[in-house]
Amino acid sequence: MPPSEPPLTDPVPLDGMQAPGPAGRLLARGRVAQESWSHTHLAARVACLVGAAHEMLARRQEAMDLATREIGKVHAEALFNEALGPLDAVKGWARVLRPALRRRRVPLNPLGFPGKRAWVEAVPRGVVAIIAPWNFPVAGLYRSVFPALLSGNAVVLKPSELSPRSSGWFAELLAGHLPAGVLQVLQGDGAMGAALLDARPDACVFTGSPATGRKVSVRCADLGIPCSAEMGGKDPAIVLADCDLERTVAGITHWALCNAGQACGAIEVVYAERAIADALVSRLGEVWSALRSGPLHGAASDVAPMASARQLEVVRQHVEDARARGATVVTGGAPLGEGLWFPPTLLDHCNHAMAVVRDETFGPVLAVVRVEGPAEAIRAANQLRYGLGASIWTRDLARGQRLAERLDYGVVSINNHSFTGAVPALPWSGTRATGFGVANSALALPTFVRPRAVVVDRRKQPELYWMPYDQGLLELGDVLADLQNNRLGRAWKLPGLMRRRMRALRDFFRRRHSAQLR
Ligand code: NAD
Repeated sequence: MPPSEPPLTDPVPLDGMQAPGPAGRLLARGRVAQESWSHTHLAARVACLVGAAHEMLARRQEAMDLATREIGKVHAEALFNEALGPLDAVKGWARVLRPALRRRRVPLNPLGFPGKRAWVEAVPRGVVAIIAPWNFPVAGLYRSVFPALLSGNAVVLKPSELSPRSSGWFAELLAGHLPAGVLQVLQGDGAMGAALLDARPDACVFTGSPATGRKVSVRCADLGIPCSAEMGGKDPAIVLADCDLERTVAGITHWALCNAGQACGAIEVVYAERAIADALVSRLGEVWSALRSGPLHGAASDVAPMASARQLEVVRQHVEDARARGATVVTGGAPLGEGLWFPPTLLDHCNHAMAVVRDETFGPVLAVVRVEGPAEAIRAANQLRYGLGASIWTRDLARGQRLAERLDYGVVSINNHSFTGAVPALPWSGTRATGFGVANSALALPTFVRPRAVVVDRRKQPELYWMPYDQGLLELGDVLADLQNNRLGRAWKLPGLMRRRMRALRDFFRRRHSAQLR
């Protein structure tokens, strides 16, 4: 059951600072709702989200249908990627947050800080603006919306203009389990996202392209809003000669083509050690030609269509550019000419001059770059523009781990690829153009909570170093500095100096400030 209704009144202007327009109204309403939500016990907040997750699971067909209609998800991916995860995500976040949000005692040295106690508490930021992409319009929201709410914030969610109904379904269902105003939705395009920032939320979580991420980060910096920006990826897989070929082919196929490659953690480049490159390309070609994709199979396909005509055009241009620069098209290569379908496309003999290797393609396309060995592969991978996920495929796990340490990426996998994007306990982050944002794990919490240090002092007398100053204090400081420097010659003077100083302070304050020391 949701906790009792917060004292929700009309949107309250904050000292006349309420921003105009719909974004400003939602923020003002969110601030009122957040006040009592932040005082709700974590267990009660978790209970609200668990209730919502159960309802999402029961009504999963609605989410699946919307994701298929809106951005072309195939049935299996709508079920596994959008519908199956909410309960695990809520429970996982509860496990991360229970210890992380607990008040933490900080011991203070009783000699330096006599009579004092201190602790740190995590204070929710207030109203968090979440600006989201379209590619995982339901499940992609768990890792920002759930921790924001569970740590005591209100949320204003701005879904992508390409997936308003799927993301809106999620938000409406979830809001039904929360006090009014705790989760609100602001639909619209980029201009609406910008207006949301102008209304000055207390924090912002952005997920999307680097171009938008840069604009959002700059605007947030201007307005002094803490912002976590997670941007694109161009994940490489490094295939070593000793890999298990069948496992590698199956794994790379899945992680290159899942969601038609429209995932930040999709494998887009393979660095294949020359000794295995022919076998790998030939086996990938066979498998990819056998996958179902296209209007004939529709949502029963293995590989989905593109989500938008714009995305289809980017993919077409990257493939054309690669072909013109000498890549070999092993399978696929051009749009199917019906709807937004682009067939699984495998390109061999690629290099770093090609857009398909340099830039995010976000489509069902894999570029194979042949390398002499792991050293060359790692050097090349670390030069890619993005730094989200990378994987190494080898039978020698110890060697794989050693090589992984040299990969300048946020998520590194051996014999699998970035499957942990939805695991609340594991950080999901990147380097270079992927941005500095961290999703998942306690390391993501600074976006949602700020620390408050609280200190309680039970002493009655003034502190030695408080005003007014005198010669005795200077001498005392000198002896203390010597002590810290292991020069103990004048240590015997310390008790006397401290007593004298305390007496001087007592005398001064007894004289009711009427006289000077000395
Ligand atoms: P996008 O940058 O076009 O849009 C993202 C969101 O920003 C949308 O809601 C959009 O309306 C909003 N927006 C646009 N201009 C804005 C502005 N000036 N101010 C505020 N908001 C604005 O990205 P997209 O096409 O929706 O998503 C695809 C991108 O997202 C890809 O690059 C992909 O790699 C990335 N992505 C990254 C991750 C990750 O975890 N790193 C996860 C999913 C997607």
